Amino acid sequence: MKHLSTYFALVALAPAALAAQGSADLVLTNGKIYTVDNARPHASALAARGGRVLFVGSDAEAKVLAGPSAMVIDLHGATVVPGIVDAHAHLLSLGNMLQRVNVAGSTSYDEVIARVKAWAKDVRPGVWIQGRGWDQNLWPSREFPTHEELTRAFPNNPVVLTRIDGHALLANAKAMELAHVTAATADPSGGRIVRLASGAPSGVFVDNANGLIDRAIPAATRADTRRAILAAIAEANRLGLTGIHDPGEDAETIGIFEELAKAGNYNLRNYVMLSDPGEPGSTAALGNPYIRRGPQSALYDGHLWIRAIKLYADGALGSRGAALLAPYSDEPSNSGLLLSRPEHIEAWAETALRSGFQVNVHAIGDRGNRIVLDAFDSALKKVPTADHRFRIEHAQILSPEDIPRFARLGVIPSMQATHQTSDMRWAETRVGPQRIRGAYAWRSLLNTGVVIPNGTDFPVEEVNPLLTFHAAVTRQDPSNMPAGGWYPEQKMTREEALQSMTIWPAYAGFQESILGSLTPGKYADFVILDRDIMQVPDTEILGTRVISTWIGGKRVYEAK
Ligand SMILES: [Zn+2]
Repeated sequence: MKHLSTYFALVALAPAALAAQGSADLVLTNGKIYTVDNARPHASALAARGGRVLFVGSDAEAKVLAGPSAMVIDLHGATVVPGIVDAHAHLLSLGNMLQRVNVAGSTSYDEVIARVKAWAKDVRPGVWIQGRGWDQNLWPSREFPTHEELTRAFPNNPVVLTRIDGHALLANAKAMELAHVTAATADPSGGRIVRLASGAPSGVFVDNANGLIDRAIPAATRADTRRAILAAIAEANRLGLTGIHDPGEDAETIGIFEELAKAGNYNLRNYVMLSDPGEPGSTAALGNPYIRRGPQSALYDGHLWIRAIKLYADGALGSRGAALLAPYSDEPSNSGLLLSRPEHIEAWAETALRSGFQVNVHAIGDRGNRIVLDAFDSALKKVPTADHRFRIEHAQILSPEDIPRFARLGVIPSMQATHQTSDMRWAETRVGPQRIRGAYAWRSLLNTGVVIPNGTDFPVEEVNPLLTFHAAVTRQDPSNMPAGGWYPEQKMTREEALQSMTIWPAYAGFQESILGSLTPGKYADFVILDRDIMQVPDTEILGTRVISTWIGGKRVYEAK
């Protein structure tokens, strides 16, 4: 009883005590607030001060806290969720895509070329034309293109078009000529030059072979990169994102992030992962300023985290670069590509456990995933560490016996709901009816006790996080197909889907004490939505609009 009376006394005192500390500068009332905090999951009001949540509860209590100059917003019943975080999203690639030609969604090779032509009509001869987004799986043939048509359309400009997944590119003859790539060029390790019957390059370069062309493209200026980053942040805010985890940026790009964040021009909380720095202890790794500096958290008032390293185990399923334990069902001579040696992954895992970095490895195929789990396992045996939070990015196709290993080893599967809905039309053709059971297997993984931070891998998928939410709870595409959902037993509940976009990413980034829920003391990051995504029918989720996006109590986007 003593316990209970103390409890009631605290509850009664709380608002007054808080007010006594100073007044709230922001108060929201009359809303449907989903806090993602089990201690108080629902509320109608929220008060914030100095960018942090001060109070969550009733309208009456919140109003008491409002200071004389507080911004008080009547939500008129709108829905509020914690700031949405995309746990796997490429900021600079999105920015580049927004500045270059976007051919995503093209339903034929002809459409790709027409879109590039329309975009490039004023480009002078000799200037590189870059774009992204083609996907041969959307074309009638479903086959990789060859360069000839593109070469005919652009005889005088080098053209490079990255595949939607970023794991392959298409180059025209001019681009290959400037890159000095010929029939005599050998495939690099972890990469494949797709060839014509003659042995000449077809124009398509897969995984590590991309570098053969990339090296010929003039580097973007710092001003170009800055412009691209700011465009990407604005786009993210517009769609309700307050944070991302950015899997693999180079030191120069991160330097620009820091410049922008220092100046207060970075409206995003970015959990940055360093691109593969080279062998641990190598000149390249030792020369990387962010490796030398060691893990950094919550820099510039919680705008940048630089404490993770991104590696690649294998390629992607769409371009048949994902490493499989047995050959592709639709290409029996191919089992995919390993982009790194397993020892490289293990060496970094061990080094990171000693230095406090997190290691997050891209793995799509069942072989890619097994190699990473094995590498983590042996590193953890050498350097036992309780709270390492190592991650596998995508964890897309898993052998049944590997599913429980995530929980056992403490490895987080970081997955992307819309990869499932984009890939479902052809994924089973790639891997067959058996292996597909361990693909995009959210429920099987959740049942073992792990959390799944959700993301889009943008610009591989669209930025809009509502597509992620919809896919997670329905396993249907935006037109609500197939009926009932694709392998529906793997769906997430709405509560899980919301957690997968808020508190689970926070956990996956060691940020759960300051991010991921609307809890007093945490950052006042939230999104106001015009409908209740936790209640509306499945078919209405994608009709939801973002009314405004807030980071640290500051409005960074408002719908017109
Ligand atoms: Zn990615």
